[in-house]
Amino acid sequence: MTTLQTHILPVSADPLADAHTQLRSAIDELGYDDSIFEMLALPRREVAVSVPLRRDDGSIEILRGFRVQHNLSRGPGKGGLRYSPDVTLDEVRALAMWMTWKCALLDVPYGGAKGGVRIDPRNYSTPELERVTRRYTSELSHVLGPDTDIPAPDIGTDEKTMAWMMDTYSVSQGRTTLGVVTGKPIALGGSVGRADATSRGVVHIALCALETLQITTDHATAAVQGFGKVGRGAARFLWDAGVKVVAVSDLYGAIFCGGGLHIEALEEHVERTGTVVGFSGTDAIECKDDLLLLAVDLLVPAAVEGVINGMNAGQVKAKLIVEGANGPTTTEADSILADNGTIVVPDILANAGGVIVSYFEWVQANQSYWWTLQEVDDRLKARMYAAWNRVHMHARTRGLTLRTAATSLAVHTVAEAHKLRGLYP
Ligand code: GLU
Repeated sequence: MTTLQTHILPVSADPLADAHTQLRSAIDELGYDDSIFEMLALPRREVAVSVPLRRDDGSIEILRGFRVQHNLSRGPGKGGLRYSPDVTLDEVRALAMWMTWKCALLDVPYGGAKGGVRIDPRNYSTPELERVTRRYTSELSHVLGPDTDIPAPDIGTDEKTMAWMMDTYSVSQGRTTLGVVTGKPIALGGSVGRADATSRGVVHIALCALETLQITTDHATAAVQGFGKVGRGAARFLWDAGVKVVAVSDLYGAIFCGGGLHIEALEEHVERTGTVVGFSGTDAIECKDDLLLLAVDLLVPAAVEGVINGMNAGQVKAKLIVEGANGPTTTEADSILADNGTIVVPDILANAGGVIVSYFEWVQANQSYWWTLQEVDDRLKARMYAAWNRVHMHARTRGLTLRTAATSLAVHTVAEAHKLRGLYP
C-alpha cells in the first residue's frame, strides 16, 4: 500500500474565490445590485477557536477550529463539520456559503453553515478524537443549538462524532437535545436512510441527467472518484441501477475494469483490506487522478474540492459530471468544460440528499416520531427529482449552465427571505 499523503486538497484549489465568482454570476443573472452581493459574500458570523488536546502520551497539542454561519435568513445554520489537515477559514467560508444555496435550492428551512478542525483524524486515537470533539463543541456551544446551528458529518467525521457532540451539548444544557446535530447513530435519534442519503441523491440526479441526455442506464459507463461516505454508496446505487461502473479510486489508488466492477464484491474487498487497491480482476490506474480523464458517460467526483481544475479540465472526456463532493470543479474548469459541451450538475443540487435527510432527521427528533425507511427514501427522491426538473428547466429557458441556474434560484430565494424580514433596526 502506498504511504498516505497528509494533504489531500489540490494546491490549486481556491474554493472561496470560486464561491464568490459563482455568487457574482447569479447576482448578474438576477439583475441584483452590488449591495446584495456584499451582503451574501460575507458570512453572518464566524468563530475561530483553539482546541487544546491532551494526547494519549500526556503531551498537549493546540488545534485550530472554525465554525462559519454564512446566512441565517431562512432558518438556523446547517452544515457539516470537517476534520482535515487542510482546513482553512476561507475553505470553511466557501463550504458554508454552498450550504446556504443547497438548503435554499432544496427548500430545506435552514441557512448555511460549516465547521472544521485542522487535524488529520487518521493520526489520532478514538479517545483523542473524542476529546477534540468534546472540546470543540464546548468552545462553540454558545453558537450551536437545534434552532441556532446544527452540525452534521462531513469529511473525517462520522456518526460517532455526532454522538459526542450531542452528548457534550446536552450536558451543557442540562437536558438531552437530539436536534442539535444530525447524522447521529440510529440508536441515538438518527434517521434511517441518513447514512447513504447523499449517495442516493447523487444517483437520483445522475439518472435524471442521463435520461435528459438520452443515455440509457444499461448502456452507460461511470467512474467514481472517492470511496468514502459519498463515493461508495454512489458506486453501489449506480451499479444497482444497471450502470457499468468501470473505475473507482480512494486515497491509496485507482482501479479500472473495462467490463465493469462488481461493486458488491469490491465492497467486501474494501471491508477486508481498507482500500479499493488490489481488487481482483482490475488494473491499477498508475496516477490515480487519471480516473478523472477516462472516456466514460458519467463522472462522479466524490472526494474533495478543486480536483477538476484548469490543469486537467481540457482532458476530461466524460459527457456528464455529477458533483458528489462539494466544489470539485473550479471556476476555470467550469468554463473549459462548458466550452467542450460537458454537462456539470453542481454540488448544491447533486449532493443535497445528505442535508435533505438531515432535515428529516431533525424534524423526527423534534417530534420524537420516527419514519420508516420507505417514507424517508420516497420523500428524498421526490425532492431530488423536483429540484432537478426546476434547475434543468430554468437553465434551458435562460440559456444558463446548470450551476448558474441552480445558484441563481437559490440566491433569489435567500435574497427574498432577507428582503421580507427587513433590516433591524
Ligand atoms: N456535509 C454534508 C454536506 O456538505 C451534509 C450537511 C448536513 O447534513 O447538514 O452537504
